[in-house]
Amino acid sequence: MSKTIIISNRLPLQVSIENEILEVSPSVGGLATGLKSFHRDGDSIWIGWSGLTNEEIPENLKEQVYNEARKEACIPVNFTSEEIDGFYYGFSNRSIWPLFHYFMEYTEWESSNWDIYKKVNQKYANAVVEHYKDGDTIWVHDYQLLLVPNMIREQRPNASIGFFNHIPFPSYEVFRTVPWREEILKGMLGANLIGFHTYDYERHFLSSVSRILRHPVDFNEVSLPDRIVKVDSFPMGIDYDQFEQAALNHSHEKFGTESDLQQRLNNHRKKSPGSKLILSIDRLDYTKGIANRIRAFEYFLEKYPEYVENIRLVMLAVPSRSNVPQYQLLKKEIDELVGRINGKFATVNWIPIWYFYRSMPFENLIDLYTSCNIALLTPIRDGMNLVAKEYIATRTDQTGVLILSEMAGSAQEMNEALIINPNNFDQISEAIYQAINMPVEEQKRRNAILQKRLKRYSVEKWASDFMKALEKSHESRNVYK
Ligand code: UDP
Repeated sequence: MSKTIIISNRLPLQVSIENEILEVSPSVGGLATGLKSFHRDGDSIWIGWSGLTNEEIPENLKEQVYNEARKEACIPVNFTSEEIDGFYYGFSNRSIWPLFHYFMEYTEWESSNWDIYKKVNQKYANAVVEHYKDGDTIWVHDYQLLLVPNMIREQRPNASIGFFNHIPFPSYEVFRTVPWREEILKGMLGANLIGFHTYDYERHFLSSVSRILRHPVDFNEVSLPDRIVKVDSFPMGIDYDQFEQAALNHSHEKFGTESDLQQRLNNHRKKSPGSKLILSIDRLDYTKGIANRIRAFEYFLEKYPEYVENIRLVMLAVPSRSNVPQYQLLKKEIDELVGRINGKFATVNWIPIWYFYRSMPFENLIDLYTSCNIALLTPIRDGMNLVAKEYIATRTDQTGVLILSEMAGSAQEMNEALIINPNNFDQISEAIYQAINMPVEEQKRRNAILQKRLKRYSVEKWASDFMKALEKSHESRNVYK
């Protein structure tokens, strides 16, 4: 029986070892939930890194890690801390990530990191080949594995290989600055089908292929000497029912059974009934425009001082990649900004920003989504931004206003939100004013359209659309032979 092999940098598992005791649990989150229908059907395996380096797993637990992962149909690939430094913190997150998000000034080109990136990609490809049987379908994910499709193709020329890029693909003028641009494009073109979140990323990729590799590009097909590669956009959705259901259950919770966070949010509402809560949730990443958002909020408070004591920014910043210097600097900048603005505007009864630097369990995310009147998401660049979709899915009474950056992939599908340019503080501040004063009827009208669309284009639909298109492109790969 043929199977699907999913391959991503991380396995959809949380692995931890404390006092020589191993704990393995399934992780939640976009990709893991999106692919669960394929993965749990019993006809797929998932290959990736467990999250712990060779040095972090004691010798006597190595076999157990493998066996526990196998129980979840996962196959761990092992790496040394030097490999993870060069491949993940190095090339993936100091070269590809900033460049693909147009942060050229943060981009470093270290040939030693590139060498490790190639070596690690080869290890992933070899792990796939080891478990591959004729007729299997392979789905490779994201910017850490750009070379994997062709590394598999070299060993299994007839395999059906799909690649999905979860981050933006930059314009040719930016991509051309990569010292190893040909190798990267050739690596991706090992796939039969290459998917992006938006049509713009797809277009940028095709223009890089045609200008750098000079392959003929016709509409959304690249003609290689021996086969055709299809390129298309598949905007990733969310597990809509899960968020909607969680919000519905949440609204039926009895008094006294709420979380501590929900009780604090309720107290806030009781003390100042007319006041509004603005929500901001992201990983602490320079691409997310968190500093811009805080400055725009400051600008709003200065321009509309009548909202002092009547509005609050609830900001959740999830720790991320804290080994990379730019992330450490960003943390310092955000800490200082929040401190300065809270110091500047606070009264004895009120502080303007509630700042949480941590990750929160799903239940608390639902508390925040359902309690905040406005979501303010202002990324400078974002491949998609699922938080925007999750916020809308939890607004079961259809109230709430989403303010969303035009630079997020999700803005392409969410025109009914208030769309802003994250660098225009005046526009953001006006959008906050408009959101506060938007009639409930208008909120409902906008959200009804958004909800209908998000429910239809769920993450399951995304995965099945991609797999169907992959099957088709693999069947027609040799049409001109
Ligand atoms: N999220 C989470 N824990 C948190 C905060 C957020 O698991 O404490 C989730 C959130 O529900 C969303 C994801 O993290 O599914 C963030 O996805 P998004 O596309 O917005 O941004 P990314 O982090 O992938 O750049």
